[in-house]
Amino acid sequence: MRCIFCGERYEQGYANRLPGNFMSHQWLQAGDGICERCYAFLKAPQARRTSWIILGPKMRLEFLQPLNNPLLTLLNPLDPPFRLYLTKQKRKHGWIRLLKNPALNREHFPIAFEEDLIQVKRVEVQKYHGLACKLRSQGAPKAALLHGFQASLTRKLNIALEDVKAVEKLRGNPLWEVVVRFA
Ligand SMILES: [Zn+2]
Repeated sequence: MRCIFCGERYEQGYANRLPGNFMSHQWLQAGDGICERCYAFLKAPQARRTSWIILGPKMRLEFLQPLNNPLLTLLNPLDPPFRLYLTKQKRKHGWIRLLKNPALNREHFPIAFEEDLIQVKRVEVQKYHGLACKLRSQGAPKAALLHGFQASLTRKLNIALEDVKAVEKLRGNPLWEVVVRFA
């Protein structure tokens, strides 16, 4: 038998029956049913509703550690291997993306944000975090950081032109979005 989530073979598992509200079919693969490990993730609310880390080579629900400040972990990751899941919506099955994508390097590694797999470079996290903190301390709302500054707001908050340009360049960058949302 082969698992539709992780693709691994199993002896004891569960029928291929997904919850009615399951919307993440695009991440599944051909298989017979659901292995015990993946079934535990599928059924566990904390796998969707919290940001978490799993340390070590094995991705199992009992190793899941909720994170209160995931940005701290992103800025200063622990020794790999680890799997890092970040959520704001708290209802996506982003854990599926991490099954085959453990972080193996502290300087560049994948994370799941909702159901997006994002390649993280630690130097970029540090740079983005510095810029986000600076602009937030000048009074810039997160919406402006994500979607760009209106000229009137730039003048009112006295934002440097180079920072306005930097934000403009970062629009749509998934790692920038993660940093801003969790900053
Ligand atoms: Zn599985």
